Amino acid sequence: MKLQTEYMQDLMDRVIKNHPSQPEFHQAVQEVLVCMEPVAKAYPEYVKAGIFERMVEPERIIIFRVSWVADNGDVKVNRGFRVQFNSAIGPYKGGLRLHPSVNLGVIKFLGFEQIFKNSLTGLPMGGGKGGSDFDPKGKSDGEIMRFCQSFMTELSKHIGADTDVPAGDIGVGAREIGFMFGQYKRLRNEFTGVLTGKGLNYGGSLVRTEATGYGCCYFTQAMLETKGESFAGKVVVISGSGNVAIYATEKATQLGATVVALSDSGGYIYDPAGVDLKLVKRLKEVERKRISEYVKERPDAKYTSGCSGIWTIPCDIALPCATQNELDGDAANALVANGVVAVAEGANMPCTPQAVEVFLEKGILFGPGKAANAGGVATSGLEMSQNSMRLSWTFEEVDEKLEAIMRNIHRQAKAAAEEYGEPSNYVLGANIAGFLKVANAMYLQGVAY
Ligand code: NDP
Repeated sequence: MKLQTEYMQDLMDRVIKNHPSQPEFHQAVQEVLVCMEPVAKAYPEYVKAGIFERMVEPERIIIFRVSWVADNGDVKVNRGFRVQFNSAIGPYKGGLRLHPSVNLGVIKFLGFEQIFKNSLTGLPMGGGKGGSDFDPKGKSDGEIMRFCQSFMTELSKHIGADTDVPAGDIGVGAREIGFMFGQYKRLRNEFTGVLTGKGLNYGGSLVRTEATGYGCCYFTQAMLETKGESFAGKVVVISGSGNVAIYATEKATQLGATVVALSDSGGYIYDPAGVDLKLVKRLKEVERKRISEYVKERPDAKYTSGCSGIWTIPCDIALPCATQNELDGDAANALVANGVVAVAEGANMPCTPQAVEVFLEKGILFGPGKAANAGGVATSGLEMSQNSMRLSWTFEEVDEKLEAIMRNIHRQAKAAAEEYGEPSNYVLGANIAGFLKVANAMYLQGVAY
């Protein structure tokens, strides 16, 4: 995916120079700029207004120290981040990631992707992302709580229900959101929808937990239908065994598919009879154990150390739902050789540019993350609406709205891809459809920053 025009190449060169040593951010920007070349030609007024330059520069970056006390009394120090990338169409919105691999470049790439993803949902949400290099693995509940409280003590100065509304991401689930919400309320003495992914008895929305995984399957189903296909009877491989992977497994199974593999950062399980989701939920959501424990209770399943081999398992549909750059060109070739028909990114940027090229070249239905995993933030948007109205919708109501949003995202991406001459290139379509709405809002609002 090379840039063809001098204008875009020059912009990309400046991004690399101004944001050094941030390869994930460069990768995310390059992918979008490649898709923007025909847009720059069609909208010269956006070039003149500096929309493309402004789009790749965050409005604000906050970096802060997070000190907390471990159970043994030692004081630990981590680094916290919040990147408020773009507020043209609504308050900044995007998750918080707690993982040792977190750095400014990772948060910037995620915040950048979030701008277009949020735009595609059709809801009024700008783009942002945050997190810390804190590693929740092996920490006690008390340590998690003290970290979250310290993190929120600083973050609370920069967020608010009409300013910036964080949510969960890797390492941040209902427990962490609860601790952070409690601290925000204590500091500000106000009960507002400042976070999404909250518990159901204090302002959370039904379906938020399931939303990203379910949404990914709704998007995939819409892609399959364009070829007269569906999930029914298909074999599915899913990476990860966290929030997104678990609920993608649940929905794919409900739609009639058999999910045969899941993973975590240690390795993957292969269960040809179909994974026992109840067991996975207990191991991961309740006991917080490794996926390797699965085979102790399902002796016919096989565990393999290391993650990349999961893509050599023959399947019809692959849903990478763990982390960025987990599926490379070789893995993509292996999937194609084994007859994969559809790949959708439940995670953010799990496929390398080489992998994406393979899928597009071979005509595989490929759903990019900013479209396929937008169900989480869409349902966060629905949680914000319910908080503002101070009422709660039923599971069926929210699920119906989620499916409608995912189908609408599919329609928008497909229409834009067709308009720009590459039908069924959902990468191009999602980037253009997501970009145009934000660009237009920035254009109409003048040069403020
Ligand atoms: P979780 O923390 O619940 O689960 C993450 C899963 O991915 C775990 O199984 C984890 O294994 C695995 N994983 C994490 N890092 C790595 C790594 N470096 N190598 C291999 N496996 C890894 O996170 P989520 O399920 O919430 O998020 C997964 C992806 O989906 C992320 O890319 C996230 O940004 C994206 N996403 C999430 C949304 C949400 O609503 N939660 C919304 C949209 C996108 P282990 O436990 O061993 O670390």
